[in-house]
Amino acid sequence: MKYSIGVDLGGTDIKAGLVSSEGDIFCRVVLPTDVEVGKPKLVAARIAEAVRQVIVKAESVGIEVISALKHTLRSPLSTEKESESPGLHSGQHPVDDSLEIGVGLGAPGLIIAETGVIHFSPNFPGWTDIPLVDYVNTELAKLNLSKISVGREPQTGTNGKYEPVLKAMDNDVNAMTLGEFRHGAGVGYKNIVALTLGTGVGGGVVIDGQVYHGSQNTAGELGHTVVEPDGRYCGCGNQGCLEAYAGAKNIVERTQEKIETGRSTILVSAAADEASLTPRKIAEAAQAGDQLATEVFTETGRYIGIALTSIAHILNPQIAIIGGGIAEAGEELLFEPIRAEFSKRAMDIPARMKIVKAHLGNDAGIVGSAMLALGGE
Ligand SMILES: [Zn+2]
Repeated sequence: MKYSIGVDLGGTDIKAGLVSSEGDIFCRVVLPTDVEVGKPKLVAARIAEAVRQVIVKAESVGIEVISALKHTLRSPLSTEKESESPGLHSGQHPVDDSLEIGVGLGAPGLIIAETGVIHFSPNFPGWTDIPLVDYVNTELAKLNLSKISVGREPQTGTNGKYEPVLKAMDNDVNAMTLGEFRHGAGVGYKNIVALTLGTGVGGGVVIDGQVYHGSQNTAGELGHTVVEPDGRYCGCGNQGCLEAYAGAKNIVERTQEKIETGRSTILVSAAADEASLTPRKIAEAAQAGDQLATEVFTETGRYIGIALTSIAHILNPQIAIIGGGIAEAGEELLFEPIRAEFSKRAMDIPARMKIVKAHLGNDAGIVGSAMLALGGE
């Protein structure tokens, strides 16, 4: 069995875990990102520390991570020097077969997977073209992880290096999509799309078993599919994007607008205090039979169904997997309106696309990031 360490970098937390090639998480660690510190090298050090803690934890529960490292032939520094290094291409190419453990990183923003660079990230203001993979590998080398050994001597690899190497970085939603594809709702399919409904609406695409990156790493922005040409303004600058209707903030705004028309709803008291009105509260109100709240979710589902129609016509995927906090609204409130709108609009054959809830939940980021490092099909 191969292992890898998946790291899910977010604006608030760094989540890391040791994951088997079967998709099981053996141990996990959560550290604050401390985004206010903001300096890329400090964040890189925090990521390396999360990896160290995962290894310590794995060792303490008897998982022989260090012995699994013995075939890690490439040192962090030699990885940096090899411009043709296969390690950074694991989105498209299998990593070296001799590798038994590596680290994969999912990060928010526009990620250049081939070079391990964050071009831009909304979660890290001011970061432009940051070579985060190099930074993290430098920090990992400093930690001298081969010295960590509980109850046994560290073993020597052919070049005397044991450090787990950060093998691959990709956009966090691409990583989650890969996680669902390998070990979640996408198992058994070749062509999938995924949507994550959170603060924003993320998207990922797997074609013929591979995450599709497009010509300049920007493919899969499914949340910016236009569903209303003169509609609500989106954070991207465009008008009428799916995100402008199905993102958490926008769901709350649409609810508030309805409440302001004077309609009766059990949400009135929650709406008085802006911060307390959340998609979860709106979903609970809908589940309790509140007409206005139900309408908000029916409309949200309708817009998702419209977006999925275009996506199905362009890509003809077998399945669309929908995750993120808002997907917790569930079958009746959200998925039924999505499917109703989709089947009304989509052409016969693309309409066969299944629409399901994601399986991995909060683990999708760690599992998917770990899969980036394992490479292969
Ligand atoms: Zn947009």
